[in-house]
Amino acid sequence: MMKKSRIAVIGGGVAGATAALYLGQLGLDVTLFEKEKSLISGPPFCHLHAGGNLYREISDAQCVTLLKQSVDFLRYYPFIVDYRPTVIAIPVEDHGTPDALLPRLKLLVGEYEKLIEADPKNKVLGENEAYYRLYSREQMESLRQKPVVPIPTNSDEWMIPVARYIDLDKVQFPLIMVQEYGLNLFRMASGAILALETLQNVDLKLETIVSNIQEDCRSGAWEIIYIQNDRAVHEHFDYLINAAGFRSGKIDDLIGVECKRMVEFKAAYISRWESCCDSLWPEVIFHGERGTPRGMGQFTPYPDGYFQLHGMTKDITLYEDGLVANTAFSCQPHLKQDFLEKIERSWRPEETKQRTQSAIRHLSQFIPEFSEAKVGSKPLFGAQQIPGDDPTLRVAEVSFPAPRYARCEIVKVSSALDMADAIAKDLVKLGYLPPSAQHRRDHHAISTLKKSEIASYAEEIAEARQYPASLSKRTNPK
Ligand SMILES: Cc1cc2nc3c(=O)[nH]c(=O)nc-3n(C[C@H](O)[C@H](O)[C@H](O)COP(=O)(O)OP(=O)(O)OC[C@H]3O[C@@H](n4cnc5c(N)ncnc54)[C@H](O)[C@@H]3O)c2cc1C
Repeated sequence: MMKKSRIAVIGGGVAGATAALYLGQLGLDVTLFEKEKSLISGPPFCHLHAGGNLYREISDAQCVTLLKQSVDFLRYYPFIVDYRPTVIAIPVEDHGTPDALLPRLKLLVGEYEKLIEADPKNKVLGENEAYYRLYSREQMESLRQKPVVPIPTNSDEWMIPVARYIDLDKVQFPLIMVQEYGLNLFRMASGAILALETLQNVDLKLETIVSNIQEDCRSGAWEIIYIQNDRAVHEHFDYLINAAGFRSGKIDDLIGVECKRMVEFKAAYISRWESCCDSLWPEVIFHGERGTPRGMGQFTPYPDGYFQLHGMTKDITLYEDGLVANTAFSCQPHLKQDFLEKIERSWRPEETKQRTQSAIRHLSQFIPEFSEAKVGSKPLFGAQQIPGDDPTLRVAEVSFPAPRYARCEIVKVSSALDMADAIAKDLVKLGYLPPSAQHRRDHHAISTLKKSEIASYAEEIAEARQYPASLSKRTNPK
């Protein structure tokens, strides 16, 4: 007989929503607390890091883990994936070379092959030998002459708009096309809410803030005090999952555990390039050194001429003093008031305009005609947590700093399933789940969702958050 348990999850971002879905689908009694009106309202995401190819500075081991976690994530949440490839370009002025990236790409092909051998259902990024492809200048010149294909079906067709629009004198060859796809956060919000609502054993408490936590000395249970409809309510739980994102430190402080972490505020900008759209675009990455004026540029397509832009410079995505660490007195790093204002209230319109225009200029160094793009909407932004003291860390999941307490600190969304596996393992150890539940990754509630329902609710969520409905759609209708 399993012990009866009540699980509390604080925070409904990707970490908390995944924990609630995973454990709820295993039949556990779960309550998910989220202070906002809908789920997945924290920092944005647009890229499935299936191999970590955006980051030259991270270890091969992190890239291999990102590949495996991304395959798992894609299998669990296929409805949020935008099936379009990514092109990696090394600018002529950059210190690196495309050749330096090749050993890692070969390693990733081998690792992907092993994943497919272990389970043929892992073949979600296409054939392993087609995981990446190289394009010489001659091939790009030749593709430049070809007519665009409205819905590309092979690598060459995806490459045509890149060949036509980027300044081939500004990048080194070969260009690399890799099977790293897009992710849609509004579709994630939609699907997670719809799936959780079908589970009788999950209590989804939106617009509910956890304000205090105490450990009941007699029973050992967690007493959670939360505010719902302006009323303070007390409830007891057996197990606590802290998935409060960049506010995780506040929960740690309430519990009284030790920690070492950073939080970082960053933003991506939404532009509209109306005259571009005779074809779908892949995502395009222009490598560069983080924090310098030549920081990496990321050009992410959405339908209807919208492009999301990152520029890893201090006047685009990064901010002076945007990265802060916790102190000896508190687990919660203190972000400057200006960042909290942006997260909790709004952006100044002039800052949106100025930073979006800087982002457009940054990308139009390489895509000259993109300089005609305009501001498309307010930015996508937020603060994310990074455990430890290495700001380049890209793979992190969960730790257990106290009994019956899991602290989730994912850096990339694809780590959420390894995180949930580790929590399930802890629950098995405590006798709350049978050993057979480990690694089960049941997704019956997700798999019954209707595509049309996910799409229309995602559109509603985007509009309620004052973003164009186009941002809730995939570029590739596949
Ligand atoms: C600009 C930018 C771009 C990014 N791009 C990518 C990308 O392309 N791919 C990728 O994989 N990752 C990306 N990331 C990282 C990714 O966004 C984060 O890793 C991820 O969203 C973290 O999810 P989370 O669930 O841990 O936290 P969050 O999404 O922050 O969720 C925490 C939730 O807890 C709630 N909460 C907090 N305290 C309480 C409380 N007391 N009571 C109730 N609710 C509470 C909050 O409202 C919030 O909804 C990006 C991050 C940024 C900043």
